[in-house]
Amino acid sequence: MNPTLKKIGISLLAVVLLAILSYAIIKINAPSADEKAIEKTYADQLDAILFSVNQYSEDVVSKWVSQIDTLVGSPSKSKATAIPPFLTENTAIKLIFLSDSTFNQIQLYSQQFDTSGSSYLKPYIGQLLTTNKEKIDKLASYRKAGYQKKQPLTEKNPLLDSLSALSFILQKEGRPYQVCGFFINTDLFIQEVLGPRIQAITQDKFIITVINKADQRFVYSNEPGEVPDLNLQSNELWLFPGYYLSISIKGQTIEKLAKQRFNTYLYLILGLNFLLILGGFFVYRNIKKEVRLAKIKSDFVSNVSHEIKTPLALISMFVETLQMGRVQSEDKKEEYYNILSQETDRLTNIVNKILNFSQMEAGKRKYTFESIDLNEIVCNVMQSYDFHLRNLGFTFLFEPGNELLRIEADREAVSEAVINLLDNAVKYSSEQKEIKVKTGMKEGYTYVEVSDKGIGIAPKEHQAVFDKFYRVTHGAVHNTKGSGLGLALVKHIVEAHKGRIDLVSNKGTGSTFRLCFPGKYSVSKLLHLQ
Ligand code: ADP
Repeated sequence: MNPTLKKIGISLLAVVLLAILSYAIIKINAPSADEKAIEKTYADQLDAILFSVNQYSEDVVSKWVSQIDTLVGSPSKSKATAIPPFLTENTAIKLIFLSDSTFNQIQLYSQQFDTSGSSYLKPYIGQLLTTNKEKIDKLASYRKAGYQKKQPLTEKNPLLDSLSALSFILQKEGRPYQVCGFFINTDLFIQEVLGPRIQAITQDKFIITVINKADQRFVYSNEPGEVPDLNLQSNELWLFPGYYLSISIKGQTIEKLAKQRFNTYLYLILGLNFLLILGGFFVYRNIKKEVRLAKIKSDFVSNVSHEIKTPLALISMFVETLQMGRVQSEDKKEEYYNILSQETDRLTNIVNKILNFSQMEAGKRKYTFESIDLNEIVCNVMQSYDFHLRNLGFTFLFEPGNELLRIEADREAVSEAVINLLDNAVKYSSEQKEIKVKTGMKEGYTYVEVSDKGIGIAPKEHQAVFDKFYRVTHGAVHNTKGSGLGLALVKHIVEAHKGRIDLVSNKGTGSTFRLCFPGKYSVSKLLHLQ
């Protein structure tokens, strides 16, 4: 392989591979950064949802506290008659207690527990308040400052295990404060009070589960059928420290999303890589073509110079001889004039070929189409070539088709194409000097073909020989000089006539070039049809 081409190939490959590699690395790493951003957004969103659930339970309890505040402070109604309807209305509250600031005078209100003097509950509540004295003092000082706070009381009691205790301070002007509290059935509160709220917030997009921390029991789920992703985000309920809220996305988890995104990226990267490789391949192919063309062009210059130099040298030699009067016999003079004429023709041919080619390249070559007889054109060419060919020792056969082969063509261009084929047949014949020219009609085409028994062309070269400047340079037999323009010109001419050129050839077996022109029905055929 050409070393320049090899270098270009390797650097191109390196560039493509580097691009692919860095792109892949960036993209594979990028998701982890993106993921964090997504996770953060979700976490913020989920936090907001959890906050709103918590806020709602806070609001509900605050409403209860203010109701009790009003009921207890009302001078018109006794507590014993005012509180039971409140309890009936809010079934989650199982017990209400009222105590003085020393925790000695305790009153109980409940529709479920025994609240009589002998109740075991009073000492228990007294004990509970004493244990949480610090919290109560804080609540009292807040209350003094004008803030009504609620505080969960902690102390396990097997009898009230399923209930959560919440306490707050009641204070009337000029009187000592009272400690009040609710024992709430938390499960009921969550299911009946928070449940509808959770349903409204989630709008079917999230799964919110409330879990009892102690025994990991699911107290509530807005989607009982779905298994929640507990790792996602969870928050403790402010007023019920033993419970936490967990949230997950319905039907989706972050991992699933990440996997989906990763797959999309993977396919994208694979697709892009494929395109890059394809692009690299095309660039390489084009460069290869250009390099080949550059080499072919430089060969062309040296070939053409050689082709021009030979006739010029001969011409100058014979002219000099004639000028010096050294040739005496008329026969010899005649012979020299013939050589001079032949060599000038050769030069003209070469120059014409180059000019025609440059016209063709510039798209300026014009054809004048007229109805002509292909047999007649070929016959004319043969007549002018006959002597020349026989002189070179060729056996020469012309087999004209016996129909009238009328085609729409440019007379000069068709002659030029046939002459080029004949030239090649002469140039590329070695020992067996036989040329056959045939015309006729086949498969709707009117054709002229030129066959030789020369060096032939290997099938893998069949396409390339029609490329401009291309010459088959390998092989010991190939010593003939040429420009590599002949067949490119022939192909251009025949294609301008909407025809095609066929080649049948193999190495060492000779070649047949056939020019096919879109044919009309021959006159004899038409007569035959009638
Ligand atoms: P050149 O000026 O080299 O003859 P052409 O375009 O006419 O340029 O031909 C291109 C190449 O095709 C030639 O270099 C030759 O290798 C091959 N070729 C053309 N005609 C023949 C033929 N009749 N027999 C064998 N090889 C041929």
